[in-house]
Amino acid sequence: MKTTILTVDPKDTKLNNEIYAKAAEVINTGGLVAFPTETVYGLGANALDGTAVKKIYKAKGRPSDNPLIAHISAIEQLYALVRDISPAAQRLMKAFWPGPMTLVFKKKDIIPSETSGGLDTVAIRYPENKTAQDFITACGVPIAAPSANTSGKPSPTRASHVEYDLDGKIDMIIDGGSCEFGLESTIVDVSGLTPCLLRPGSVTLEMLREIVPDITVDKAVLGRLNEGERPKAPGMKYTHYSPDASVTIVRGSTEKTVCEINRLLEEHGAEKCGVIATEETKDGYNTENVLVIGSRRHPETIAANLFKMLRKCDYYGYKLVFVEGFPESEIGLAIMNRLKKAAGYNIIELD
Ligand code: AMP
Ligand code: MG
Repeated sequence: MKTTILTVDPKDTKLNNEIYAKAAEVINTGGLVAFPTETVYGLGANALDGTAVKKIYKAKGRPSDNPLIAHISAIEQLYALVRDISPAAQRLMKAFWPGPMTLVFKKKDIIPSETSGGLDTVAIRYPENKTAQDFITACGVPIAAPSANTSGKPSPTRASHVEYDLDGKIDMIIDGGSCEFGLESTIVDVSGLTPCLLRPGSVTLEMLREIVPDITVDKAVLGRLNEGERPKAPGMKYTHYSPDASVTIVRGSTEKTVCEINRLLEEHGAEKCGVIATEETKDGYNTENVLVIGSRRHPETIAANLFKMLRKCDYYGYKLVFVEGFPESEIGLAIMNRLKKAAGYNIIELD
């Protein structure tokens, strides 16, 4: 299959409308289109067409019990898809939609089991990114989309990442530049009595608590589940965000962290190792293989660059990667959630 790549231009509405019309034709004939959102690039199909949705699983190599998120471009589209919208869900929608937050509701029969991964619930997101909204509106149907990467690899935050993973396996990529937030959406389950955080993201737990103070946090958000424990978000048992390199997180005071990573570099041979460092520490390492992820004073830059850095580690062919840890508050909870999975929970705690 040939993958067509079309680039939107924020200043050229006529061109963009032509792109969305072509993309809508692909979607409405059962094909796959990758598109930008404010979180990561999504791999979209018609969420109401089980046969089309199956192609997403095949292109990504994704296990079929790992459900997708259905994307909408107006609140009114929600009511045909879900049942029992609780007052807490309504408050969350009012506060954070459109934006980087996904809500899990009880589903209506119109949602095929391919989209919901066989569950009786469905995850819905209303993205804020203008390209995503215009694309969904042009299609006229909800768009089922997981991240547009090969299953297990870091999520794509640029069209080139999608092309690297899925060229020849999907019909179209809409190139809308870099993603603003760079981490997948926050997921909150509102299908039960009390809202529950299933995946942390750029809408932070602190922000959610201001709207729904009684929100609970799924165990899988903080660490690895024990053998036999079933995660509430099925994706949690699969997603790794892993580069080919073996990743180790080193966490402690800045000075101790730099010292320990330098010791590890010496132990393993610095040439085959990479370090993911911050603006504050980058000059302290005894190697040239330093990738700067952002500044500790601006953790949102660290979130936005995380997946790009993990992909770069493969590009440079590092065998081992040492990455500094971050405090698990605000956006740091989401950063560490993705890093721990990328590292297979391999953490050296220094304090
Ligand atoms: P991705 O963003 O690529 O990880 O794909 C969507 C994520 O949403 C996966 O981690 C799923 O496990 C999660 N998800 C989708 N639908 C549901 C649902 N009904 N209940 C819980 N989690 C869901
Ligand atoms: Mg994903």
